[in-house]
Amino acid sequence: MVAIVGRPNVGKSTLFNRLTGTRAALVSDLPGLTRDRRDGVTDLFGVNLRLIDTAGLEEARQGSIADRMRKQTEQAIEAADLVLFVIDARAGVTGADTSFARIARQSGKPVVLVANKAEGRKGTDGVLDAFSLGLGAPIAISAEHGEGIGDLATDIFAAL
Ligand code: GDP
Ligand code: MG
Repeated sequence: MVAIVGRPNVGKSTLFNRLTGTRAALVSDLPGLTRDRRDGVTDLFGVNLRLIDTAGLEEARQGSIADRMRKQTEQAIEAADLVLFVIDARAGVTGADTSFARIARQSGKPVVLVANKAEGRKGTDGVLDAFSLGLGAPIAISAEHGEGIGDLATDIFAAL
């Protein structure tokens, strides 16, 4: 079981769709569109994995949005054998990334750091920024354009 986590809008659902080969997860420019977690399966170069696409936001009535995001992320990490921690290489590392990264680190679960939206030149700076999260070397990918998926798979298999 692999959980895809990270702040809203970094491309978690796009990566989920890319890996599962479906449009099951909603992709949107609006942060927080994925309102509940979505499960899928992928046959990644012959290896079967269960994937969870997290919202970063859930429909709960109590608590702040940040609280709910945090809670849902924690639950997904808890259930996972491996965490794909996604950042937006174009935006660089944000405060929300840093705070989620702390949760991921403290979980003790294996984490693969993914710097998404790294197609073209704009992505490069954020990829290097990602080292500061203390989650090891980032894998630069473009979920939208399907770049770097082989490298990502290599790291996933090494971490499982
Ligand atoms: P989520 O909130 O983390 O699930 O993010 P989404 O998957 O909904 O994507 C948020 C936005 O980022 C959408 O407009 C996507 O089209 C865009 N996006 C996702 N992956 C990439 C990528 O590899 N490159 C670029 N340039 N945009 C991407
Ligand atoms: Mg989403």
